[in-house]
Amino acid sequence: MIRFDERVAIVTGSGTGIGREYALLLGARGCKVVVNDIGGAVDGQGSGSARPAAAVVEEIRAAGGQAIANHDSVSDPAGAQRMVDAALREWGRLDILINNAGILREAPLQAMSLDAIEAVIGVHLMGAIHCTRAALPAMLKSGYGRIVFTSSASGLLGHVDQSVYGAAKSGMLGLMNCVKLDCKDTGVLINTVAPSADTRMSKGLIKEELARNMSPHLVAPMVAWFASDQCTQSGEVVNACGGYFFKVALFKSQGAQFDPQEPVTLEMVDEAWPRISDMSELEPYRGTLASLEPNLRKLGRL
Ligand code: NAD
Repeated sequence: MIRFDERVAIVTGSGTGIGREYALLLGARGCKVVVNDIGGAVDGQGSGSARPAAAVVEEIRAAGGQAIANHDSVSDPAGAQRMVDAALREWGRLDILINNAGILREAPLQAMSLDAIEAVIGVHLMGAIHCTRAALPAMLKSGYGRIVFTSSASGLLGHVDQSVYGAAKSGMLGLMNCVKLDCKDTGVLINTVAPSADTRMSKGLIKEELARNMSPHLVAPMVAWFASDQCTQSGEVVNACGGYFFKVALFKSQGAQFDPQEPVTLEMVDEAWPRISDMSELEPYRGTLASLEPNLRKLGRL
């Protein structure tokens, strides 16, 4: 059985929805959990409530587990630090950070107020940055860490009226890809989940017959696995929804390579567009320079 005895986790936004399931599962498997939640409305507005986080803490304790509540906002850097300090004060270590807190404001980009834009970026992208930045020193010091970011189909693919939310959610990929490299060989592993589940956030966005197969507890085993000792991966993106888990990755076309020592014209690009965009022979995307170098070697330019 996969257990988390002696491990300490922070799960942001775990007073309701998918995050609550992460906290309950980790707590049931012996993990000590900081249940963070501002207890806000789905759009992040209003004054918030201490009740959701307190209720999850009670549930974990009633089942024999250990948990404490934290009501700081992830969008406040000092609040993120207080979350980490609470874990270190209570249990002396921090092993797991699940960046899950989120809000949703839907509108076409041109109709979104600057306040709404800043709120969405502030919770999702800046929130993940603040919490990860606060958590990393303790993890790097102990030589062990599991960090999970939360993306979304909106960030991977797009969704009508969710431009800023989608931008923040695809920001998780850049954040993961780079922090993963900074943490290479440190024992700190970083992965991303793109969940989909029947929660208050997805109400009205998912067809009813699908939604009833999409309990949020079906997402939790994937994220708990990323948070476990068993996970040795870093930099993975996995969709988790309705009991279906699958990896998502970037692939590239063969593309068109011109001699860089000769003129390359707009018309050459126009003529080559079918080859540039032909996705019938895919190869894994390893980066611009790593893709260019073998071509230049073949052309005798290296
Ligand atoms: P939810 O609204 O049920 O839960 C989100 C939780 O985050 C709430 O408890 C809320 O109080 C908390 N929160 C919001 N702002 C916070 C802040 N500043 N600091 C701390 N806590 C805060 O939503 P959910 O569906 O459980 O979503 C969880 C995560 O999964 C979010 O990041 C969301 O964007 C993402 N997601 C959800 C779906 C879905 O289908 N439900 C799809 C894709 C991505």
